[in-house]
Amino acid sequence: MTTETQHSLAPEKLAVVGAGLVGSLWALMLAQRGHHVHVFERRSDPRKGTYKGGRSINLALSDRGWRALEKAGIADAVREIALPITHRTMHSTNDSLTHQPYGLPNAVGKFDDPQCIYSVSRALLNRLLVQESEKHSRVVYQFDRKCTDLDLDTTSLTLEDEKGAKHTEAFDRIFGTDGAFSAVRDRLTRTDRFDFSQRYLTHGYKEIEMRPTADGQFKMEADALHIWPRGEFMLMGLPNPDGTFTCTVFAPYDGPNGLNGLDTEDAVTAYFSIHFPDVIPLIPDFAAQWLANPTSSLVMTQCYPWHHGDAICLMGDAAHAIVPFYGQGMNSGMEDCSVLSELLDSMDSPQDWAKTMQHYTELRKPSGDAILELALRNYIEMRDKTGDPAFLLRKKIEAKLATNYPGRWLPLYSQVTFSHTPYEEALEAGQRQDRIMEKILSQEGIEANWDRPETFESILDAWESQSV
Ligand SMILES: Cc1cc2nc3c(=O)[nH]c(=O)nc-3n(C[C@H](O)[C@H](O)[C@H](O)COP(=O)(O)OP(=O)(O)OC[C@H]3O[C@@H](n4cnc5c(N)ncnc54)[C@H](O)[C@@H]3O)c2cc1C
Repeated sequence: MTTETQHSLAPEKLAVVGAGLVGSLWALMLAQRGHHVHVFERRSDPRKGTYKGGRSINLALSDRGWRALEKAGIADAVREIALPITHRTMHSTNDSLTHQPYGLPNAVGKFDDPQCIYSVSRALLNRLLVQESEKHSRVVYQFDRKCTDLDLDTTSLTLEDEKGAKHTEAFDRIFGTDGAFSAVRDRLTRTDRFDFSQRYLTHGYKEIEMRPTADGQFKMEADALHIWPRGEFMLMGLPNPDGTFTCTVFAPYDGPNGLNGLDTEDAVTAYFSIHFPDVIPLIPDFAAQWLANPTSSLVMTQCYPWHHGDAICLMGDAAHAIVPFYGQGMNSGMEDCSVLSELLDSMDSPQDWAKTMQHYTELRKPSGDAILELALRNYIEMRDKTGDPAFLLRKKIEAKLATNYPGRWLPLYSQVTFSHTPYEEALEAGQRQDRIMEKILSQEGIEANWDRPETFESILDAWESQSV
């Protein structure tokens, strides 16, 4: 864990723009290094009732996020508000359920592996991160302060308060953690050879809430991420510690099952009756909630480099906004914090920001691109394949391989979610595993022999000798 005593250096005056999940964590980590940190957030204080977090109500936190929280010394506090999720439960149209544990089976096929993801409320986590970092005397938050411009020559920010009054302030360095529509990044797009691209998914999402039973109990298994895969679209239900489930439909905007067409009570009722009939008794006011709640879009951004000289650095969604289908947006943003911090630790001079930021871009840009690719692929897997018998057979074979060849076969999901393997390496390993799995699945009689890896030993041998 990073502690202040480890870092003795001349304190700098640093700015963090955006007090979301990444900015508030990074502010704490910078203060622990001895710096004075000024955090500017355009919204009001998340600890006040008026705060609207926007976007998803809850998030899946996994190993990459935990590692950064551990490093900042606040993992225990976060554990208090986190709900463990041990498996996926798939809901078919005929009411049958299929369970897929996140952990891997042991040698006798029992799932006693404690691996799980954790559901956390975005608002509670954000509040906690602000609160924990603000306990630090060197961290000062200013809410209702919107960054409207940045002067690269003087490393100064123009900040606008809620009444429209502007002031300019100079810093030693500025960290842009201001999300997918980053003002800090926007300024960098007007510098020479800065690459930037933005695109929207043709699918959007809508959230509705499943409330607990009258006696406060969950209406479905509380330790599962529930998925209703329906081909081009899907419904997902993630539990919250208060007994509710946040249910999210991800679907195309246009077309026969498009979100745009679901704008009347009759249309919504027909849609749920056909595709998610088991949900209707669990959310009696589903149509009213649907019509009242906004439909939200999903944006993806990529840029390069993630820094400017030794003065400006982009982190979290400001550097890499991705689609949410691997549950890795926040986790990868938190991993930016732990990687940047570890880079600072590894420098001969802990204040060598030019080298640190250069290495940070070199290390993290390929990871950001890879997790976007992985997340896009996982959308197809979740909505289209999780209910497919061939996919379920593949999962069983993979689990068997992971058990029989420990350390040699780690399923892609585990590499992304439960390891710290760089995302680009996980993506590459996953592509290789796909090729091997295709060969295994094309073997005659595989449905009967899936639990006898010795029958596809030759394919694995070829894999080991690098010829597949
Ligand atoms: C539907 C959905 C589900 C998701 N589920 C998951 C999940 O399960 N797991 C996961 O890991 N990730 C998930 N994500 C992704 C996750 O929400 C983001 O990756 C994460 O919020 C990024 O954190 P951030 O701090 O970089 O940006 P943000 O959380 O967007 O925070 C940016 C902050 O900057 C502030 N700001 C913006 N502009 C300015 C400005 N000009 N001046 C001052 N302040 C400014 C904003 O108000 C905000 O507070 C999901 C995303 C969506 C949309």
